Amino acid sequence: MSLDTATLLTVASCVTGLLGVFILVCWAQDRGTRALAWWGAAYLMGGSAVGLWGANEASVPLVQSLPNALLFVACGMIWNGARLFHGRPIQVPGMLVGAIVWIAAMQIPAIAEDGHLRIVLSSLIVASYAFLAALELRRERRRSLGKAGLSPFVPLLHGIVFLSPIPLALLTPPDSSSDSWFALFALQTLLYVVGTAFIVIIMTNERTVLGHKTAAMTDPLTGLFNRRAFFDVGQQLMARQAKTAGPVSVLVFDLDHFKSINDRFGHAVGDDALRLFAATARGNLRGTDVLGRLGGEEFAAILPGGPMEVMMIGERLRAAFEAAAVEVSSCRLRATVSIGAVAAVAPADIAKLLERADAALYAAKSNGRNRVELAASEASASASGEAVASAERTVWAAIARFNPMQIWNATGTFMRS
Ligand code: GH3
Ligand code: MG
Ligand code: MG
Repeated sequence: MSLDTATLLTVASCVTGLLGVFILVCWAQDRGTRALAWWGAAYLMGGSAVGLWGANEASVPLVQSLPNALLFVACGMIWNGARLFHGRPIQVPGMLVGAIVWIAAMQIPAIAEDGHLRIVLSSLIVASYAFLAALELRRERRRSLGKAGLSPFVPLLHGIVFLSPIPLALLTPPDSSSDSWFALFALQTLLYVVGTAFIVIIMTNERTVLGHKTAAMTDPLTGLFNRRAFFDVGQQLMARQAKTAGPVSVLVFDLDHFKSINDRFGHAVGDDALRLFAATARGNLRGTDVLGRLGGEEFAAILPGGPMEVMMIGERLRAAFEAAAVEVSSCRLRATVSIGAVAAVAPADIAKLLERADAALYAAKSNGRNRVELAASEASASASGEAVASAERTVWAAIARFNPMQIWNATGTFMRS
């Protein structure tokens, strides 16, 4: 197959320019992703540079070297777009270094007049930028390609694609026409820019969708799951536990006398206390536990584990918040939290568990606040009445506080009842 260089260059130039316009339109619709503006502008510049290749008949070396210099700046912009995409700063010197090296090299007649050396140098520059950009984007692609174990090879592939003209150029006799290599290079570039544009748009789109999804699931004040997400993600945990009929526990938290905190110190300090509670709770739970803000100063957690575990976690969290909330935003807050807990075997209805935990929370409030109460197990509550249930709760509370004397006394009451 013979490839006409002039046609290929025109097609490459038009396709790259059009992709540039397309990416800029995407950016105009989603102003949040500045990287898109850089990528779109880079494509427009790269397209113009390729167009100038064909039209460039100047005899002044500096002017002759301009199209390639523009192309290398465009490559540098694509790499910087990738940096921006990951929240890293623009690197202007790095962006310009390829073009500067090229312009300087073209002032040396030995390089400027040797077609092979020019191919080697330009391939090296483009390959370096492609490699750098691919390295930056690797983290983003790791999620989609990671399962296939391909992600480490992507930057390598980019480098190899753009370095391939070098051995080809070195293997051909010096007098052979450089036209066919030019055509090959143009074709390769064409495939690369189309592929890269797709990746860039898909990645940006994925990130936007993820952003919307996260916002819809998150409580803006604390960054925790909101009520709906708590139920959704909690249900997933319940389904996992149900496979082995494993234990599941629910904790509900309600800050004590929170209205009075707002009244005395102001709403902003109240908000800081809520954020502090969220951070303390997150720090005292495991990554697999599900934590959410149900509304106002009420939070809930769902976790794998039985009564012993839930009471220990509840007690640890209660104590941690009591210690952390002595002073909030330079105010002597002395905020505390009351906690209701319930343990069950999966599968169980989360709404019902929350109701039972709420009843335990009510008991924690009436028993003096700043404490954890466990809801009686369904069996003991229905079979033996409130006296047994209450004794059982006391045993668990004592275990949670690691108080051997209390455990002994409470177990005695439980046995007797
Ligand atoms: P108790 O110990 O019985 O739980 O008393 P409490 O004062 O904490 O309970 P109550 O339900 O009477 O008051 C809850 C308060 O929480 C009332 C409301 O103004 C406040 N609140 C709800 N949402 C927010 C919020 O987002 N920020 C702040 N600062 N306060 C909030
Ligand atoms: Mg409340
Ligand atoms: Mg409260």
